[in-house]
This record gives sequence, C-alpha cells and structure tokens, in this order.
Amino acid sequence: MLAAPASPSNAAQQPHSFCYDDGSEKNKSSEEHSLSARILSGNAIRDQIYAELQSEIASLAALGVKPGLAAVLVGDNPASKVYVSSKIAACTKLGLASFHITPPATISTAELLEIIEGLNARDDVDGILVQLPLPAQIDSKKILEAVDPAKDVDGFHPMNVGHLVAGRPGLVACTPAGVMEILRRSGVAIEGANAVVLGRSDIVGKPQALLLLHASATVTVAHSKTKDLKDVVRRADIVVAAIGRAAMVTTDYVRPGATVIDVGINRINDAKQAESLFANFPDRFAEFQKKGTAIVGDVHPDVVNVAGALTPVPGGVGPLTIAMLMSNTVKAARTRRGSRAPATASSRA
Ligand code: NAP
Repeated sequence: MLAAPASPSNAAQQPHSFCYDDGSEKNKSSEEHSLSARILSGNAIRDQIYAELQSEIASLAALGVKPGLAAVLVGDNPASKVYVSSKIAACTKLGLASFHITPPATISTAELLEIIEGLNARDDVDGILVQLPLPAQIDSKKILEAVDPAKDVDGFHPMNVGHLVAGRPGLVACTPAGVMEILRRSGVAIEGANAVVLGRSDIVGKPQALLLLHASATVTVAHSKTKDLKDVVRRADIVVAAIGRAAMVTTDYVRPGATVIDVGINRINDAKQAESLFANFPDRFAEFQKKGTAIVGDVHPDVVNVAGALTPVPGGVGPLTIAMLMSNTVKAARTRRGSRAPATASSRA
C-alpha cells in the first residue's frame, strides 16, 4: 500500500525517517536502520496505477473494446527479451491483448517497415512498441517514425515529442512519465523546485526535462560535457539520474535532503566493484556473492544516507515504465476507438 503522501513538499523539508513507501519491512537489515532517506517504492505506485487502470479496462470491455499492445522484438538480445516478457506479462495481468512479433536479427529496414505498416493497419492493435536497441543494419529513426503516432505508446514519434514540447495532449515517453508519477504520488513539491536532469537522451533526459518544466520546476539538463557537474547537481532539490553509469552519482553530488530519482539500470559482475559499492550493505553484497551479478542504478547506494527521498534499484523507476506503457495503451485505445469508448474523467487526466 502506498504511504499516504504528505502535503506536497520537498523531501528536504520532511523529517528523515527511514521507511519504505509500501510499508515493507522485508529489505531492512540492522545496518539500514541508521539510514535516512524515504524510499520511494515504484512497486507500490505501480500497483496503485494498475488498480486505477483495471476499472478503466473494465469500462472499455463493457463497450466491447479490449486494448491491444504489439511488441516487436528483433533478434535475441537477452536484456531486450526480459524487458519484452515483462511488458507482455503486464498485459496479461491487466487483461489487455498482446501480440509478440519476433523477427530475426538479420531483418532489413524495408522488411521491418512492412511489419510496422501491418500493425498500423490492424484495428485490434492500439499500441506498438519496437524494443530498442535495433540491430546496426536497421535505420532505427525510420522505424520509429513509421509507427502510427496514435499507436506510438512509447511516445518516441516526432509528432508526440512535438505535442510534449507544446504542452498538448499526446502519448508521452513512459520512463519520464513514470518518474512524474513517483514524484506526484509521493507528495514531492515540483513547482518552483530546482530540478537537475542528468542525461539528455531522447527517451529519458529530454522528455523528463520538458515534463518537469511543464510542472513549473526550474530545470537544468546536465550531460557529459557539463562543467562542474557535481556543483550543478548539488544545487538540485530534485535529481533525476539517467546516464547509464553504475553508481556514478555519489554522496558528494547530492544536497542533503534532496529527492533523488535513479533511472539507471546497470548490471555489475565484478566482485571488487560489488564489494566497494555494497560496503555498507552486507545483505546486498551477500546477494551478489550468491548470484555473481547485481543490478545497480546510476546513483551510489550510499546516497540513501544523504538524500531526503530516493528510488531504489531495482523496484523504483523500472516498474513505473511498464505501468505507463500499460496506461498509454489504454489511453491509445480510448483515443483511437473513441466513438466506441467515450472518455471518462480518469482517462482524460
Ligand atoms: P543514453 O542514451 O546512453 O544517454 C545517457 C546520457 O547520459 C547522455 O546524455 C550522456 O551525455 C549522459 N552521460 C553519460 N555519461 C556521463 C557522465 N559521465 N557525466 C555526465 N553525463 C553523462 O542512456 P538512456 O537511454 O537515457 O538511459 C540512461 C540509463 O537509464 C541507463 O542506465 C538505462 O539502462 C536506464 N533506463 C532505465 C529505464 C527504466 O525503466 N528504469 C528506462 C530507460 C533507460 P551525452 O549526451 O553528452 O553523451
């Protein structure tokens, strides 16, 4: 269950009590009781969004509409396979239709375009996601631009990006939209806050900066060429780290009490690196030793001692990315099959 959001405020202004937002005790060890940040559980917020979507999906079903998501997975990249399986599993859990298309890694741009055109034409497909990265021979931009913007549930089509820039309704990229859900539903004050987005990719950093700007934060976008990066990040009330560098954001980047959202997903396999990263987290190091691998974010685990609020990795932003994909699929179904499924108050939000 989601902890009742405090009245909107920056985590900096909240007492630094240690608690999981889902009330979970399971990850606490005796060492962790000395930690301070409020842990913003993505799993709890995802469950809340799923509960809201379920009533939306039921009202669509009553109108004879079953939203459908087509996932195109080219080749056999193991990480991509895992991501697509999680997305299909979420469809199944929520009662959405899903279509799994798995062309071989050798497919040409022209052949993949044909598949996309076919999906664009299908009435039972409301959302199309093309799992990235695509093999080197594929013109990825051409493929993403071929997706019907009305079915572009990843929010990558230039038309949807333009809608986001202009602050008009459209389909918004899932990960940054999920970050906004975490901030809002956790009661973090965004209006007037200094927000630093670390990373400027098309799929996370840029749309994230626009969403925070539309929510009236004062936004700085930092990247690999930013000077005095630590000083820039340390000014932030809200940090969104999306750089793809394991644990790069160390405690000296973070102003005490800041809200830190860790988008990064990085696999580490090196025992020395794990020993150093998890020096203050013996349970996590023991887990690493058992599995020989671990997932860490772009934020160093020790930041939990400095931040006012922090998303965990795993279990933070990741679940929200999938939740927003589901939300976009339902939204696309309602928008596209509008005459059969008139909008409700919740779907317009
Ligand atoms: P990306 O396309 O590789 O972009 C990385 C960004 O970080 C770039 O703007 C880059 O700057 C910047 N950067 C890299 N090294 C830096 C450094 N040392 N100092 C400052 N900036 C640096 O990555 P992405 O697709 O945005 O993904 C970022 C991370 O989020 C990855 O770990 C990815 O796995 C994760 N991710 C997670 C989810 C989720 O659901 N949780 C979803 C998407 C992505 P330049 O532009 O100057 O090169």
